[in-house]
Amino acid sequence: LLSAHSITKSFGPRAARHQVLFDISVDVHAGECLAVIGGSGSGKSTLTRIMLGLEPADAGSVDYEGQSVAPGRRSPGGRALRRESGLVFQNPFSSLDPRWRVARSVAEPLTLQRRDLGSAAIAERVASALTMAGLEPADFLDRYPIDLSGGQAQRVAIARAVINEPKVILADEPMSAIDVAARIQILDTFAAIRAARPDTAIIMVSHDLGVVRHIADRIVVLHDGRVEETGVTSAVLGDPQSDYTRRLIEAAS
Ligand code: ATP
Ligand code: MG
Repeated sequence: LLSAHSITKSFGPRAARHQVLFDISVDVHAGECLAVIGGSGSGKSTLTRIMLGLEPADAGSVDYEGQSVAPGRRSPGGRALRRESGLVFQNPFSSLDPRWRVARSVAEPLTLQRRDLGSAAIAERVASALTMAGLEPADFLDRYPIDLSGGQAQRVAIARAVINEPKVILADEPMSAIDVAARIQILDTFAAIRAARPDTAIIMVSHDLGVVRHIADRIVVLHDGRVEETGVTSAVLGDPQSDYTRRLIEAAS
């Protein structure tokens, strides 16, 4: 569905170039949940942003359904991906406009893409997205972000991310800013999305290996901008092949 080939990326001025990704290749299949794990600064966010066409790579390529993805409006894959992807970030309030009620925040991506839909059809889609996110529509539609807990806000952000029925969801540390008790609800939300839409691919960046164990089919371990190890979840967590992965798992348990 989505694949990155030999991605390299550096930041900084020429004199102080800092390379953060070294020749990385990763692919994500329809319907799978791929976890990207690794230490802070290992390049997880940069890699996944490049894969979603949110940022340019210095070298290498990204393909979405066989079409080239590059940031900006011109690449056909990038255009398709923008329509067919949903984004969830660490801070849910960054995706919610404080001036908008939940109903509007969740509906907005749909109203931008589907000018043909009437307000009743939109309301129906909003209600079903909120329900999938574990929120009772009647309780939440009229609230403003300030009246939501962090966990509720993240579930609204997820409802907004799935309203267009994306084929790919990027979730970058979606639980890190959420208290431990509410994390299980976020995890349940992703499980509900997978159950309702089994073809949706989820790229989950997380340092919470408990979360990863529950939700991910496959894991990519990044270490200082390189792929350290990749494999199915039970194999990587149960029998890591690299010392780095082993230490990462020990540090988390
Ligand atoms: P974390 O777990 O802390 O979120 P990460 O694995 O997501 O880390 P990245 O955010 O991808 O790591 O960052 C990788 C490296 O790239 C880091 O050294 C970071 O400082 C650097 N970096 C990321 N974005 C930029 C930027 N816009 N300008 C300069 N350096 C950047
Ligand atoms: Mg990050």
